[in-house]
Amino acid sequence: MNARLNPPQKPGATRTTAEWQQTDSAHYLHPFTDSAALARKGARIITRADDIYIWDSEGQKILDAMSGLWCVNVGYGRQELIEAATRQLQTLPFYNSFFNTATPPAIELAELLAEITPPQFQHVFFGGSGSESNDTVVRLVRRYWDLQGQPERKVIISRKNAYHGSTMAGASLGGMSEMHQQGGLPIPDIVHIEQPFWFALGRDERSERLSREEFGRRAASWLEDKIQEIGPGRVAAFIGEPVQGAGGVIVPPSTYWPEIQRICDRHGILLVSDEVITGFGRTGQWFGCETMGTKPDLMTFAKGVTSGYIPLGGVMVGERVAKALANGGEFAHGYTYSGHPVACAVAVANIRLIQREGLVERVREDTGPYLAQRYAELAGHSLVGEAQTCGLMGALQLVRDKTSGAPFPAELAVGMMCRAHCFREGLIMRAVGDRMIIAPPLSMTRAQMDEMLALIRRCLDLTLAELQQKGAF
Ligand SMILES: *Cc1c(COP(=O)(O)O)cnc(C)c1O
Repeated sequence: MNARLNPPQKPGATRTTAEWQQTDSAHYLHPFTDSAALARKGARIITRADDIYIWDSEGQKILDAMSGLWCVNVGYGRQELIEAATRQLQTLPFYNSFFNTATPPAIELAELLAEITPPQFQHVFFGGSGSESNDTVVRLVRRYWDLQGQPERKVIISRKNAYHGSTMAGASLGGMSEMHQQGGLPIPDIVHIEQPFWFALGRDERSERLSREEFGRRAASWLEDKIQEIGPGRVAAFIGEPVQGAGGVIVPPSTYWPEIQRICDRHGILLVSDEVITGFGRTGQWFGCETMGTKPDLMTFAKGVTSGYIPLGGVMVGERVAKALANGGEFAHGYTYSGHPVACAVAVANIRLIQREGLVERVREDTGPYLAQRYAELAGHSLVGEAQTCGLMGALQLVRDKTSGAPFPAELAVGMMCRAHCFREGLIMRAVGDRMIIAPPLSMTRAQMDEMLALIRRCLDLTLAELQQKGAF
């Protein structure tokens, strides 16, 4: 237990840290957590937030370089969002969109999304989260091919190490093997190809490094191979994150997505872009597909649509699918909270705030290039084998040998070691294996970015020192 038993009372704190932790482990099952291991340590209790910082129940201030969980794009404490929610709660806290009804915030958000998304998107289906929205994708894809008179087109191709959520369909579309092992997944007719991860996979048959461009084309060709294996007449769709997020911020080579688009076009396969992380400015364009140069038929969003202030997700439906649905009678699918008025009101306020402050342009022209430059400097650190950024997403691959790219032995858990230093130093940076990742708020200033980068360098140095002390470097 790292909890002090009698911490000074903070304003608004109703219990001590130890009391929160005990009650937490007694009753609260956390997502993706080994409960017994957590109970031994006690959870870190986060009590408040402002701008790009969070505070825990011990009063420690922490720079949140993960935007909560990839979602607090405009930063914490923004009055515009709080007021939009309050106003809507007072006017109409809930009404559904089922029985030929709708609410003004849902209509207004649909209109605004049609305006800011690429031109093929004029329609939206709302859900409550990214996972739900990817479930909707599976329903939409199958419905589309049924309406086309090709019900045998059922197979959706995704990628290993992809993250598309945690419902049965979301986890099946995702390529996380630990998730598949715990639940008899994937569900039928969802298959996976390898990811465009140059650092891990970018070698030829003789173990020589391929150029990134060459590797990008090769990684895309795995889609063509899979289509041929299954039979083009059975493949319904391909789904991918423009930049894989939870898989480790894997920025694909520039040759990858255009080639994927050509392959989908050649076979008439629907292209689905999961923009739950990459949407709403993260990559320096409103949507990641614009950065990568694709024209998807369906686009999933969640997280940044409300900057995480309240849950909301959805699917942008492109003209090809929308046309089929329009002539197809009832689509027997929907959620109680589809188009929830409070969530939609917050989303409208959030998007207007992003527009007013020019955050997408700021990431594209100022903070994104600045982060790229500073990450290129970090690539010189002895622990860093690869440093990648895309807009305001970044990854540092920690390696034992910079020249060969040789990894540390897994049992050293170097990523977790680095993450522990980050917490202690007041920085949230996430570890995916030995890949350290960030996705800070888009509202971040250059000065705050310098502060973040100084913390990152310090934590890399502390990790290196610990490894040297253990004789592991
Ligand atoms: C987080 C995430 C999801 C799942 O969203 P939830 O709101 O957690 O259900 C889906 N796709 C991607 C790319 C994500 O990052």
